[in-house]
Amino acid sequence: MIELDNVSKRFDATTVLSGVTGRVEQGEIFTVIGPSGAGKSTLLRLIDLLDSPTGGAIRIKGIDIHAKGKQSLRVRRMTGMVFQKPAVFNTTVAENIAVGLRFRGVGKTAIRAKVTDALTMVGLSGYGERRARTLSGGEMQRVALARAMVTEPEILLMDEPTANLDPVSVEKIEELVLRINRDLGTTILFSTHDMYQGQRLAHRIGVLMDGRFAQVGTPREVFTVPATRDVARFVGIEN
Ligand code: ATP
Ligand code: MG
Repeated sequence: MIELDNVSKRFDATTVLSGVTGRVEQGEIFTVIGPSGAGKSTLLRLIDLLDSPTGGAIRIKGIDIHAKGKQSLRVRRMTGMVFQKPAVFNTTVAENIAVGLRFRGVGKTAIRAKVTDALTMVGLSGYGERRARTLSGGEMQRVALARAMVTEPEILLMDEPTANLDPVSVEKIEELVLRINRDLGTTILFSTHDMYQGQRLAHRIGVLMDGRFAQVGTPREVFTVPATRDVARFVGIEN
């Protein structure tokens, strides 16, 4: 579904990613775990077309998403993203969620119905007319999730969506992630510096370290047979 082919990313003198290779299969939850500064946000931003790699390629359904042309635009519309810091526009909750639908030219009545459904999905029925900026961080992040899901993306990218939330809000987001994947079959790429969260959610985990995946495997594999000493140290197994 998503193919990372020797992806590298350099900012001036700093090399952040230096050959990330791996595949995210259709319908799976793949978590990218790694320490702060490992390049998780950078990698997800590349997949969401917010930036371009300096080397290698990212393919979704076989299409190089950074290649110019209509194909990559088509791929762009297959993904939704939730960011590390809860980001909402200074308007109503309903308007926040409707943005992508307006962009796609969806009619008013359909927008209203889809927004209502999306709010129900994230457990915020009745919040549509509230000002988004007056919500709690956890609620804002659920609005962001509703905004990403309302366009029915095949791929959901979540960049440490719970990094700034309290434990109860974290649990709610995790439940939603599992439910969206199970009920809608959405492919989810979820980054976190919290290895336990990575373990709770993932079908497979990629451990991002020193600019590449030090290991890709099931939670069981990564946590019981770490591929390198650094992975072992990161998942808390000293040897
Ligand atoms: P965290 O868990 O703290 O969110 P992360 O794994 O998401 O960390 P990134 O935000 O991807 O890490 O950053 C990786 C490295 O790339 C950092 O050293 C950061 O300073 C650097 N970096 C990211 N974006 C830029 C940029 N636009 N220009 C220069 N350096 C950047
Ligand atoms: Mg980050």
